[in-house]
Amino acid sequence: MVNAVALREKLIREAEPDLSWQEVAVLLESKDKELEEAFFMRAKAIRDKFIGKKAYFRGLVEMSNICAKNCLYCGIRADNAEPHRYKMSFQEVMDACQFAYERGYGSVVLQSGEISSVAFINEITDLLTAIQQKFDGRLRVTLSCGEQSEETYQRWYDAGAHRYLLRIETSDPEFYRAIHPNDRHHDFEERVNCLRLLRKVGYQVGSGIMIGLPGQNYAAVARDLMFLKEMDVDMVGMGPYIEHEETPLWERRDQLWPLRERLAAGIKAVAALRILMKDINIAAATALQAIDPKGREQALDVGANVIMPNLTPIEYRKDYSLYENKPCTDEDRGMCSVCLEGRVKSIGLEVARDQWGDSIHYHDRQKKS
Ligand code: SAH
Ligand code: SF4
Repeated sequence: MVNAVALREKLIREAEPDLSWQEVAVLLESKDKELEEAFFMRAKAIRDKFIGKKAYFRGLVEMSNICAKNCLYCGIRADNAEPHRYKMSFQEVMDACQFAYERGYGSVVLQSGEISSVAFINEITDLLTAIQQKFDGRLRVTLSCGEQSEETYQRWYDAGAHRYLLRIETSDPEFYRAIHPNDRHHDFEERVNCLRLLRKVGYQVGSGIMIGLPGQNYAAVARDLMFLKEMDVDMVGMGPYIEHEETPLWERRDQLWPLRERLAAGIKAVAALRILMKDINIAAATALQAIDPKGREQALDVGANVIMPNLTPIEYRKDYSLYENKPCTDEDRGMCSVCLEGRVKSIGLEVARDQWGDSIHYHDRQKKS
């Protein structure tokens, strides 16, 4: 049994406390204000010491909502007939990158549904090559295009992508099966293997989870955070699960925690992970903002150091509907960027400009190997 008083003292006394998963579970679940204060104070101090008082911007480009998969939680799953399927043109993606570059973001995230056709693989390769040429390597590219073969990951790496985001979603294989169709396209081991392949190829590897899925509890989230630590990832993007009416998981909405609780758990998960993994990049997920307009600032305030302004052209945003109430679907990129800078400054962080913002963890592990 974890003693909450002893845990609070440990957080106050130790500059770099070692936390067990049971202690993390208590931190996620507890509503004790004094414990929470010590917890957030420690997470913030660790971020300030290992990363600094700054936030990196990554321009998020949702390139396409065409997806071959059918994850039971996702609004753009293949079987959902509702969203109009789109693919941004080559030029539209390049324009979004130009915007990021001019604003001094230093980095973009190119995300899409999961497609493994030769045409798609070639298109991404060509885009990466063009981005490298146009910006002369000054714009770092993160890809988030799902599970691919080692050969594809290698091709994209060689063409200029150096970071990759692939959330594990949950680290419990049985629970993974409960939130995905049971077929070979949605296989837990395969997803873990992809994370290993990405690392083998040389990427800065990003992963993450959803928090507050139906049937999930705090102990499961705590074990997920331990999994991210064991996998030794370099970057994490994680956020609350938000139900979508046109998905199979909608049927289980009566099992959900209230939205406020999912928000609180999402923020606490960021703080706990910062204590567990001191020098990685942690993003303040957009889904936090779907619940509370200040959700992302709260995450930045307790240890996150990355925020992702949306650079997707307005006409596509409502169709990239992973979940309901996705924020900023009617704000253009200029407004989005001004608004976010104000938010970051409002909590006393500096906006890091013209910097790649590589994961310090990644560079340290490169030095060690
Ligand atoms: N197709 C790629 C990238 C796009 S989806 C992939 O799946 O890896 C990006 C992330 O959106 C997923 O990893 C998932 O964690 C998140 N997501 C999907 N549906 C969601 C929902 N209903 N609520 C919150 N996050 C969701
Ligand atoms: Fe496709 Fe990614 Fe959504 Fe799964 S989570 S259905 S892979 S876009």
